[in-house]
Amino acid sequence: LSYILFIFADSINSNFSKVVLGTFLKNLYLSYLEILAILVFIALITALIRRWILIPNRLKFSLTKKPESIIIIVLIASLMLTHLLTESVNHLIKPETAYSFNFISEYLSKPFKSLNYDINSYILLHDLFWWIHLTIILSFAVYIPISKHLHLLVSPMSFFFGNTKSSGIIDTPLNLEEMETFGANNLRTFKPKQIMDFFACAVCGRCSEVCPTNLTDKELSPMHFINNLMQSSSKTEEDLNIGVIDNQVSKTEIWDCLNCGACVNECPVGIEHISPIIDMRRHLVMEKSEMPKTAESTLLSLEQGGHPWRGTTFTRSDWHKDLNVKTISDNPDAEYLLWVGCTGALVERNQKVIKSLVKILNSANVNFAILSNEETCTGDPAKRIGNEYLFQILANQNIQNFIKYDIKKIITHCPHCLNTIKNEYPALGFKAEVINYTELITKLIDQKDLIPTNETSKTVSYHDPCFLGRHNKIYEEPRDIVDSIPGMKRMEMCKNKDKALCCGAGGGHMWIEESNEKRVSHLRTDEFLETKSDTLAVACPFCLQMFEEGISAKSQSDEEVKDIAELLEESIEENK
Ligand code: SF4
Ligand code: SF4
Ligand code: SF4
Repeated sequence: LSYILFIFADSINSNFSKVVLGTFLKNLYLSYLEILAILVFIALITALIRRWILIPNRLKFSLTKKPESIIIIVLIASLMLTHLLTESVNHLIKPETAYSFNFISEYLSKPFKSLNYDINSYILLHDLFWWIHLTIILSFAVYIPISKHLHLLVSPMSFFFGNTKSSGIIDTPLNLEEMETFGANNLRTFKPKQIMDFFACAVCGRCSEVCPTNLTDKELSPMHFINNLMQSSSKTEEDLNIGVIDNQVSKTEIWDCLNCGACVNECPVGIEHISPIIDMRRHLVMEKSEMPKTAESTLLSLEQGGHPWRGTTFTRSDWHKDLNVKTISDNPDAEYLLWVGCTGALVERNQKVIKSLVKILNSANVNFAILSNEETCTGDPAKRIGNEYLFQILANQNIQNFIKYDIKKIITHCPHCLNTIKNEYPALGFKAEVINYTELITKLIDQKDLIPTNETSKTVSYHDPCFLGRHNKIYEEPRDIVDSIPGMKRMEMCKNKDKALCCGAGGGHMWIEESNEKRVSHLRTDEFLETKSDTLAVACPFCLQMFEEGISAKSQSDEEVKDIAELLEESIEENK
C-alpha cells in the first residue's frame, strides 16, 4: 500500500497521498512506516545472528546457510535505510509538513541539517535517496521470481490453499479406471498445490529438525526433499520426461517416509510433504511395480488375505471364542460397531489388548458388536504404500458391510483405522460417527459408568501415536484415562502431544524395513527411558509392537509396554 501511495502515485502527482489520506492520516501512516522500518532492522539483525552466529539446530543445515539469504537481508535493510533517509531529508525541505510523531526521521535529519546545505542540495539528496529506494524495489521485483525468495510470494497462497481438515487425509481419486497415469513423477503430473508447495519453502529447517527419518540419519530430510523437487521446475522438456524420481529425489527417500506428519505440523507456510511422497509411491507401485520387497509382500498379503500379517495362523474370530462378544449379525441393534483391526485380531500380543477393551466395554454395559470374519483391512497400508487401487477395493468391501448392517457409530482401537474410516471413507461415500476407544472410555469414566478402583504404584509415560495425536488431535483422553487410575503416576516424555516422535511404524513401515540400522523406535524408546517410568503406555497396536522390541533391545530393566485399555482393565472391578 505504501509503495502504491507514496512511490508510484505520488511520483505522478506529488499531492496524491495527501489528498487521499489527508494531512493527519498521511503523517500518522508515515510515522507507522518509520517504526516499522526500525522493527524490520531489528528482525534482520536477529536473522543474521541466528543464521550465522548463534545458530539453532534447525538452521545448521548447509541449505539454510546459503549466501543468497544475505542478498535478501542486505536488500531489505537498504530499503528500510533509504526510506528513513528520504524522510529525514524531507524534514529539511518541508519542515511545515513535519509531524511530531515522525520522531525517527526528525532525529536522523539532524546530521544533514548540520551540513548547512542550501535547499536545492537537500532536494537533490532527497531525490537521490528516493531513486535508490525505488531502484531497490524494482530489483526486488526482478530478483524474487528468479531466486529462492519466490517463497515470499508463493507461501501465502500455499497457506491459503492448505488442507484445513485432518493432516492424516490422503486424497482419494475416484476415477482410477479412466486415469492414463497413476501418481506423479514430473511437473506435469504433480498437483497444483504440490507444485505451489515446492516453491513456498522458506528453508527454515523446522520440518527436518523434527523428522524422525532425518533424526535417524536416513536419506529423507523433508526440507531438502521439497527443495530438490523445486529444482525440478527449471529443467528441460527431456528432463520432464525422465521425471524427478532417481534424479531430484531418490527412491530411498520416498520409501523412508513414515507419514507421521511432524513436518506438516511444524511448517509455518502450510506445506504438505506427505502428499507428493504418496503420489510418487503411487507412481512407483501402480505404474512401475517398483517397491521394497517387504512392501510387495504386504500388498500381496492384503490382496490374498485381506490383511497385512503374512504368516499369521489366526482367523479373525479366534480371539473372541471364549469371550462374551456378539457379532453384528447376532446383535443387529448394537449401538456401536467395535472395529477390531487386523493387528488386534491377528497378532497374539495385540489380541490381549482387544480382549481388555471388550471386558471394559462389557463392564460398562456398552451395547456393541463386531464384524469378526466379515471385517477386512481398512486398506490403510495399501493406500500409504501407494496402491490406491487395492485401497479402494478393500475400503469398498467394508463400506458395503457398513451399509448392509446400517452402521451409524464405530469405535476403533487402531488409530490408523480411525483415521482411514473417519477421514478417508467419506470420499468413497461413507460417513458415520467414528470415535477412538479412548474417547468413549473417557466419557464412560466421566459418567461413572466405569470406576477404576484397583490401586497401582505404576509410573507411566504415555506415547502419543501420530495417527491419534497429530493427525486426529486426540491428546487429552488417553491421559485422562491414566489419571483416573488410583495411584498411577503419569510422566511426560521430552517430546509429547503434537511434538511427539513417531514410533517408526507409520506410512506402511510396520511392514517395510527401515533403510538403515538406526531405528526410529529405538530413538523414541531412549526418550521413554529418560523419564525413568516403569511403564510405556500406548494407544496403538503398532506402537505396542515397536516399543516392546525397542525396550527389549535398549533396556536391561523390566520396563513394560501396555495399552491404555490393559492399564484400565487392571484397575476396574471384576463385575463393576
Ligand atoms: S511425514 Fe514424518 S517421516 Fe515423513 S517427511 Fe514428514 S516428518 Fe519425515
Ligand atoms: S518447515 Fe516448511 S518452510 Fe520450513 S524448511 Fe520445512 S518445508 Fe520449508
Ligand atoms: S489399518 Fe492397520 S490395523 Fe487397521 S485394519 Fe488395516 S492393517 Fe489392520
